Amino acid sequence: MAAQAIGRQGRMGGGAEGAASPFQAIVESIPVVSYVRRAESPPRMLYVSPQVESLLGWRPIDFTARPAHWLRCTHRFDRDRLVSAWDSAAAEPSVTAEYRMVARDGRDIWVRDMAVADVYPGDGSRVFNGVVVDITAEKEAELELHRLAFYDPLTGLPNRRLCMDRLQAVLAQREQEHVALLFLDLDRFKVINDGIGHAAGDDLLVAVASRLAPHVTPHGSLARFGGDEFVALLDRVGDIASVESIAETLLIALRQPFSVNGYDLIVEGTIGVALASQETTTPHELLRTADVALYRAKAHGGNTFAIFDPQRDHGGFERLEQEAELRRALERGEFEIAYQPVVDITSRRILALEALVRWRRPGRDLLPPAAFIPLAEETGLIIPLGQWVIEEACRQMRHWQEQFPVARSLQVSVNLSGRQLRQSALYADVARALARTGLSPQSLALEFKEGDALANAAEVAPALKAFKDLGVKVTIDDFGRGWTALSSLTQFTIDDLKIDGSCVSRLGGHNGDAAIVRALVSMAKAVGLDVTAGAVETDEQLAVLRELGCDRAQGHHFAPPLSVDEMERLFQRESEPLASASTAPYHGSGI
Ligand code: C2E
Ligand code: MG
Repeated sequence: MAAQAIGRQGRMGGGAEGAASPFQAIVESIPVVSYVRRAESPPRMLYVSPQVESLLGWRPIDFTARPAHWLRCTHRFDRDRLVSAWDSAAAEPSVTAEYRMVARDGRDIWVRDMAVADVYPGDGSRVFNGVVVDITAEKEAELELHRLAFYDPLTGLPNRRLCMDRLQAVLAQREQEHVALLFLDLDRFKVINDGIGHAAGDDLLVAVASRLAPHVTPHGSLARFGGDEFVALLDRVGDIASVESIAETLLIALRQPFSVNGYDLIVEGTIGVALASQETTTPHELLRTADVALYRAKAHGGNTFAIFDPQRDHGGFERLEQEAELRRALERGEFEIAYQPVVDITSRRILALEALVRWRRPGRDLLPPAAFIPLAEETGLIIPLGQWVIEEACRQMRHWQEQFPVARSLQVSVNLSGRQLRQSALYADVARALARTGLSPQSLALEFKEGDALANAAEVAPALKAFKDLGVKVTIDDFGRGWTALSSLTQFTIDDLKIDGSCVSRLGGHNGDAAIVRALVSMAKAVGLDVTAGAVETDEQLAVLRELGCDRAQGHHFAPPLSVDEMERLFQRESEPLASASTAPYHGSGI
C-alpha cells in the first residue's frame, strides 16, 4: 500500500501528471522532507517532497532531474560516509544516517535520514522510501553539551576530563618516552585575585591561557584544571632536554607583564614535570607524579620547574596524601584540645592549663601532635590549625571562667610553632581571638620553643614585646633541650621558662643528676623569670624541684592532659589543691 501510494507521488514529484492522492496531501504538509530513491548505484531520486525547498533552497525537480544533486548538496566531509552507508544498506530492509547538507545559501544543515526498502510499483525495482528531518538545533545542543562537559567555560581550553581522556589515549598508543605532563600552578594567584577582584582575576586567567597555549600546541595540548592550575600534555617530545626547554619557555612567557583592567601584573608560575615511563602508565599516576614534582618546585620558592625524580621524591606520594588528609581534617573540624593543669609547686593549686591539640580521626586512633604537627608546619597548614587552637582555647577558657569560680583566675597557654612566630599576622590573629572570645589578655600565655625563637630573633623580638605590651604572657618552652645560653634569651621579653621534661626525668632516683636543672633554675631566677618544670612524674622529682626553687610544675604526677569533660568534672569537684595523680579520681582517664 505504502509502495503504491509513494509510487504515485514519486511520479508526480518527478514531474509526472495526475491527481493528488490523500496521501500526497499528508506527505506534503508534514514538516519533513519525504523522498523515494532508487537502491541501486548510482542512486537517483525518483521523488522529493516540496518541503525540501524550505530546508535547502532547492526545488524537488533539482534533485529528481539531476541524479547527483543530493550528494552534491551533502557536506564534503560527510559525502563518503553517506555513500558507504547507502551502499552497505542497499540490500538491507532499512537505513538511517545523520549527515550535514549545505543549503543553497551556504548554511550547514544537519539532517537525520531514515528510509525503508520497498518495491517501486512501476518497474518492480528496489527503492528506499525515506524522510529527512532537520536536526541542526539538536546537534548544536549536543555540541554545546559536549563543550560544557569537556571544555573550561572561562578560557575555552580543554578541561581536566578531556585532558585525562586524551592522556589515556596517548599513553595507550604512543611510545611512552614521548609523553610528558607539565603541571603549572601560578604563584600567589590567590593574593593577586583578592587584590584586583575576581572579575579581573578571571580576565587574567584568560590572558594566561592565551599566552601559554601557542607554546604548547606544537607539542601537544594545554588544559585548565580549575583555579590557577594548567596542565600541558606533551605527546610529541623528543627528549628530556626539549621538555625542559618547553617548561622554561612557559615560565619566561608568563613573566612578561600582563595588562588587565588597568593593572600591570607580574605573574610567576611553578611547574612540576612528569615523564611517562614503564612505571607510570595510567593518567592518574602520571598526574600524581607531576604533582609531587610541583610540590618540590614550590618548596624551593616557586617560579621554577622540577622534574619528578624517583630517588628524591621517594615518599612524596605518601606525603601528599597525608597533607590532603590533614587539610580535610581541618575543614571537617576533626581537631580537639586536651588541657593539662600547671600547678603551684608548693600549694598544688592549679594556676594554668596548657592547651594540647589532638586529631580525632573518625574510626581511628586519636593522634598526638607529634604525629601531625611537623607535617602541618612543613605544609603551612599550621597557620590555620594554630589559629583555630588559639581561638578555641581562648573561647573554652572564657567559658570556664564564667562557669566555674575555681577557673576564674586561670590562664590558658597555647603552643606556637616557629612558622607561626614568623608570620606577621600572628599578633593581629591573637588580638582578634581575644576580642572575639572576650578572654582577658592576662588569661592567655603563648609558648615558644627556645630554638624557634632564637632562629628568628630579629623578627621575633618585636612580636614578643608587642604581646607583652598587650598583657599576654610569653613562655619559652622546652628549655634545656637545646642547651641555649640563657643570656641569649634575655633579648626577648619573656615571663617564664618551662624546663624540658628530658631534664626533669634525670632528677631523683639513684642516678639522679640535679646539677643541670639547678643551673637552669638559678640562671632563670637571676634574670627574674618564673620557672615551670615540665613532665614531672614522681614524688622524688617533685621534691628536688621544690628544693631547687621551681615555681610551678606540670606532669602526669599531677594530671595528664584532660578532655573538656574530664576538666569540667575536675572543676566541679576540685576547689581544693590538686592531689597527686596516684590518688586523684581522674587519674588514668587522660588522653
Ligand atoms: P610540649 O609543649 O612540651 O607539651 C608537653 C608534652 O608533654 C605534651 O605532649 C604532654 O602530654 C607531655 N607530658 C605532660 N606531662 C608529662 C609527663 O609527666 N611525662 C611525659 N613523658 N610527658 C608528659 P603532647 O600533648 O603529645 O604534645 C607534644 C608537643 O606537641 C607539645 O610539647 C607541643 O610542643 C606540641 N603541641 C601540642 N599542641 C600544639 C599546638 O596546638 N600547636 C603547636 N604548634 N604545637 C603543639
Ligand atoms: Mg608547651
